[in-house]
Amino acid sequence: MTEPTHDEAHGGALGSRLNWLRAAVLGANDGIVSTAGLVVGVAGATDDRSALLTAGLAGLLAGSMSMAAGEYVSVSTQRDSEKAALALEKRELHEQPDEELAELTQLLEDRGLSTAVAREAARQLTERDALRAHARVELGIDPDELTNPWHAAWASFLAFTVGALLPLLAIVLPPADWRLPVTVLSVLAALVLTGWSSARLGAALPGRAVLRNVGGGALAMGVTYAVGSVLSAAGV
Ligand SMILES: [Zn+2]
Repeated sequence: MTEPTHDEAHGGALGSRLNWLRAAVLGANDGIVSTAGLVVGVAGATDDRSALLTAGLAGLLAGSMSMAAGEYVSVSTQRDSEKAALALEKRELHEQPDEELAELTQLLEDRGLSTAVAREAARQLTERDALRAHARVELGIDPDELTNPWHAAWASFLAFTVGALLPLLAIVLPPADWRLPVTVLSVLAALVLTGWSSARLGAALPGRAVLRNVGGGALAMGVTYAVGSVLSAAGV
């Protein structure tokens, strides 16, 4: 087992790459589970391949666009508030530089530096780039690394689509008798992989994460298949 603190010691760049990777895995996981639930539910009601294809494709597009729109909105909002915080900080630095220096000193002391070292560090950081220092230490923002909402939206769109393609292809490609077993098995296998990867990327133990993930997917397919079958048997 590698210790989580080991990864963190490498600093922000690796950390943010791991976060992106983890978000991609989770997005793909969403695409797998929701599309698998959808197509297995329709397969419970009908053998018609074109109905399965239509439902699966509509589910893929609806899901990926909804994920992208949600991500765009949430990242834009976050970016707006980060920009507003930076603008306020910039004004404070301009209007009350002494208070800001004292504030930075205090923050560095809170992080474990002695008063003398904190004072010197705050002085040097302020001389070099006061706004960046306050952004990092006080706000926890890197002013050069604000997330682009379009990038985030595209990443979610792609991740969901890649995940959704698996159950979609698994349900439409095989002969009718093989559809369900091929889809269920390939989906469960993929969920083992995504559950394991997201746990490892989050530095958590994979065993339980895999079980929960596979359990969630199996439940989604079981429920929709049951509903599809009941509706079909009732002649709806
Ligand atoms: Zn400040």
